[in-house]
Amino acid sequence: MRILIVEDDAVLADGLTRALRQSAYAVDWVRTGIEADQVLSSAVHDVVILDLGLPKLDGFDVLRRLRERSSPVPVLILTARDSLDDRVTGLDLGADDYMTKPFDLPELEARIRALIRRGQCGTSTTIIVGTLRYDSVGRRVLANDAPVDLSARELGVLEALMLRAGRVVSKEQLVEHLCDWGEEVGINAIEVYVHRLRKKLEKSGIHFRTIRGLGYLLEKPSGP
Ligand code: CA
Repeated sequence: MRILIVEDDAVLADGLTRALRQSAYAVDWVRTGIEADQVLSSAVHDVVILDLGLPKLDGFDVLRRLRERSSPVPVLILTARDSLDDRVTGLDLGADDYMTKPFDLPELEARIRALIRRGQCGTSTTIIVGTLRYDSVGRRVLANDAPVDLSARELGVLEALMLRAGRVVSKEQLVEHLCDWGEEVGINAIEVYVHRLRKKLEKSGIHFRTIRGLGYLLEKPSGP
């Protein structure tokens, strides 16, 4: 899962980035509304945390432009502005949630998880593929009910493949799903993560197919 933080307060953005990375999200950060507008044109993020008082382009304008491009990406407004007018405007412009500063991190993270669930897999917190069970709240994977020890990167790759089980996911999509800016994840690294996942999940009966030239496909077993 890849999150974009749009925030001009460097201290807050830094703390938030670190906390979310700790929770195994890939996090990008931009300071201005203009940068946010540009970055959001590329549509690689799963959730956007948007401040309103931003240099160059106000958060409301960023949101307006985003929805004018018909982007469905979930947006959580995180702002010091707590008036009813601002809340109504934000939600009417297409924000999915609205939180005011100061905020509690556990609540912010719970709201992020809710947005991801809504966006990716209905209201379920668990994705099941064969003997594999991915718990998007606890961010852990069980194979045949036993926890599987995965690194953050391995978990990211598996998460992307499970969310799209039965469909081909390209290596480029996996790279995008994983990488933070400034921290390149190469195509070769993806091959390594998939290799490790195959080993760690060897006994689960889960099959990761390599689709030559296209990417990977997590087979959806038929039947229970
Ligand atoms: Ca601000």
